[in-house]
Amino acid sequence: MKDIGVFGATGSIGASTLQVVREQPDEFRVVVLTAHSRQQKLAELIQEFKPSLAVIEEKPAEELVHIAKRHGCDLLEGRKALLDAAEYHMDIAMHALVGSAGLELALRLARKPMRLCLANKESIVCGGHLLKAAASLSGCQVMPVDSEHNAVYQLLEGRGLEDVARITITASGGPFRELPLDAFASITPEQAVKHPNWSMGAKISVDSATMMNKGLELIEAAYFFPVDQNQLQAVIHPQSIIHGLIELVDGSCLAHLSETNMQVPIRHALSPGKRLAGGQNLLDLMRVGQLELYPVEEERYPCFSLARQALAHAGGAPNILNAANEVAVGYFLAGKIGFLDIPKLVAKALGAAELAQWVASEAGTVEEVLELDATTRGLVQFWVKED
Ligand code: NAD
Ligand code: MG
Repeated sequence: MKDIGVFGATGSIGASTLQVVREQPDEFRVVVLTAHSRQQKLAELIQEFKPSLAVIEEKPAEELVHIAKRHGCDLLEGRKALLDAAEYHMDIAMHALVGSAGLELALRLARKPMRLCLANKESIVCGGHLLKAAASLSGCQVMPVDSEHNAVYQLLEGRGLEDVARITITASGGPFRELPLDAFASITPEQAVKHPNWSMGAKISVDSATMMNKGLELIEAAYFFPVDQNQLQAVIHPQSIIHGLIELVDGSCLAHLSETNMQVPIRHALSPGKRLAGGQNLLDLMRVGQLELYPVEEERYPCFSLARQALAHAGGAPNILNAANEVAVGYFLAGKIGFLDIPKLVAKALGAAELAQWVASEAGTVEEVLELDATTRGLVQFWVKED
């Protein structure tokens, strides 16, 4: 029986993780649950899983306090309590917060010799070097949850990177893969969050529509699989059945396929050594019928090109890319800017004179990373308010 903490339990990855846990009552015991603001949902989860500790960032309503008390669960509030929850005894942590707001938590969790299932890709983009250092010091096992990276991880199991000629991650292309380019200016948030294959949180759904998500994932791939950058590529695969491919130096190409369901990579990340049964997800290839692969059309997906440039540039560029994108996506979802303003703002931030010193060199400490994140956010907010 393994003790598990689910951070960001009320979100999309949190829900998929808890569904896997629900199906495996002999494998996992939930000890920590955290949420940002969805109090009712957190209350339901406390009733069902009876964790020892729950954290809510907002002030808890009286009903939530009562429910926690009734189930013997310590309920804490605020950001500090969230970070301190990392110190609770756990064998496994699922980190499913969204955005660079997850970086400090990722670092706290990585300092412990446990299994860290890391869905929060933004923390890798912003502080991958810090995470790597913390995990190697503590012996923390960082597992990729992202379907493509989990796929490649599985393909590489028992294999050295010297045998690998190329690593490919796939992208669905999002909801606008076939939309005429002149219609992009009028895309609404409702259209952008409607992903054709996956059901996900709002931010990653917009990132999938712009393909910033695949760009962040290339940076994530460089973290998990340290090969030369020109050995990493992304291709469009509208069916989202093939998640990752590796080509070996002898000409073999291996692929990982599964149904489009995050429970599949989550099962592996939670339990890489022992395969967990999950009956409903057997892949019916006859039903799928066709597997198509296309190159990424960079004119359609400028965010993808910006992310590739940020990866190649390194230094503070990935941090600036991520922070500018988070702010821009927030404004887009709030109806304050258009879809095409997202890449424009990200490009403007990457080229801003105010940030030039940061672009040049990597933010070494966590304080510097947070400062760069805040500075970039402030600048993008200023530009949008000024307009
Ligand atoms: P979501 O918006 O559905 O859920 C986010 C969770 O984090 C919620 O529980 C929310 O309460 C909590 N949260 C949000 N902001 C917070 C903050 N500032 N402080 C504390 N808690 C906060 O998001 P999601 O789709 O589950 O994605 C989570 C992460 O997983 C993201 O980094 C995303 O890129 C990654 N991911 C998601 C999917 C997917 O299928 N949803 C797939 C691959 C990777
Ligand atoms: Mg992914």
